[in-house]
Formats: sequence, structure tokens, C-alpha cells
Amino acid sequence: MSYEVISVEMEQEFKDCPVCGYTDGFHSMFKKDGQETKWMFICPSCHSVFDLGLKV
Ligand SMILES: [Zn+2]
Repeated sequence: MSYEVISVEMEQEFKDCPVCGYTDGFHSMFKKDGQETKWMFICPSCHSVFDLGLKV
């Protein structure tokens, strides 16, 4: 399955979806990236995928 990943610069908080304006936070997803695991976020409303640069 392919999907677009939107890179976001984290500011004070990341709670509102910059694509659709949904304001109640995000679902989490994890994706292997070589030896690292990326922690990304999915908007529950428009299903956009966001990468804040976080890793677990
Ligand atoms: Zn959204």
C-alpha cells in the first residue's frame, strides 16, 4: 500500500491537522527505516500521514 507522507516541522504542539483542520489529535503508526523505527501520525479525519522526524 502506498501513501503520501507529509513532513511537518514540530512547533509547540502537534494536535491540529494542517490538511483538514481536525483538532483532536492523531493516530500513531510505526514504520521501519533501516535500523530505526519512525513514529508517524495519521489524521483520523482525512487519513493524511505526517512525519515529525520522531523515532522510537
Ligand atoms: Zn486531517
